Amino acid sequence: MIGNSTAEKMPPKPFLSLVVPVFNEAAVIARFHDVATGVIQKLGVSYEIIFVDDGSKDETWKIICRLGGMDPHLKGISFSRNFGKESALSAGLSYALGEVVIPIDVDLQHPPELIPEMIKKYHEGYDIVEGVKSRRDIDTAAKRASARLYYYFMRKLSGIDLQNMTDFKLLSRKVVDVFNSLPERRRFVRALLYWAGFRKAQIPFEVQERVMGITKWSYVKLFALGFRAITSFSNLPLRLVTFLGGLTLAISAIMGIDALYMKFTGRAVSGFTTVIILLLFIGSVLMSALGIIGEYIASIYDEVKNRPLFIVREKFGVK
Ligand code: UDP
Ligand code: MG
Repeated sequence: MIGNSTAEKMPPKPFLSLVVPVFNEAAVIARFHDVATGVIQKLGVSYEIIFVDDGSKDETWKIICRLGGMDPHLKGISFSRNFGKESALSAGLSYALGEVVIPIDVDLQHPPELIPEMIKKYHEGYDIVEGVKSRRDIDTAAKRASARLYYYFMRKLSGIDLQNMTDFKLLSRKVVDVFNSLPERRRFVRALLYWAGFRKAQIPFEVQERVMGITKWSYVKLFALGFRAITSFSNLPLRLVTFLGGLTLAISAIMGIDALYMKFTGRAVSGFTTVIILLLFIGSVLMSALGIIGEYIASIYDEVKNRPLFIVREKFGVK
């Protein structure tokens, strides 16, 4: 990261960079490396494969180093701990030298066979070529339903449509440079790339079954990412707080007038039910409002701390 006057010492830049985030994937790395290399070598372009080890606890890093010893195209970055896929992707994108960069999952759910078609689209003048899920039935019904619900809210709140989007996409150098220049700490790569604009082409593909290993996402992680994405891209929830304030004000005006009327006409009864309902209502509105505001304060806090997105423990092949 330090020094930018080393240009003359740098090896020639490759045309293609694959950025592969890996977290406890010892079982699949070698297989991925074989398949991806097979596909790329047929293309006859210069390339690099950057594995970003996101703080794995298994043999992942050892395997990356071993493969790196045999294949000069392979580069590796290892984090000091698990920082999450978004940070791993950000790291990969900042170290990648290619004219085009393709982030891709290591579990072969993103078929490397799509790469030639993506590159063809790039040569037709597109800056982003997105791999779009054409089928999701390998996910459970619950995961599909929650994903759909989430994308619906995301679209309504922020205008960003992530339905069927994946992180598997070709990015031109222009896009990667824009991405690398973004100052924010809280990152949701897919949404940021949507936000950045540029000419986009889409290629549908069928998400494959994971070759080996298990998914690294828990519902908690997904929920956190989802919530973060909404607060990063929309201020509407904050306006909702104002709206709720207005609504409760209107309701209390009506009920207040009614209560006064009852009192002055001598018909005031012991309206405990109303009091209880009002208390509960106001209590929950206040709590939700505080929660929403708290979420935004938390994201401001994260940004202000300005901590690095990731910490590199070891690396090879990259500068
Ligand atoms: N991954 C990562 N850090 C994490 C979780 C996942 O780098 O904290 C990587 C993982 O190794 C894989 C990709 O992100 O290459 C996608 O993860 P996974 O296949 O577990 O997610 P799913 O396909 O089930 O959404
Ligand atoms: Mg997967």
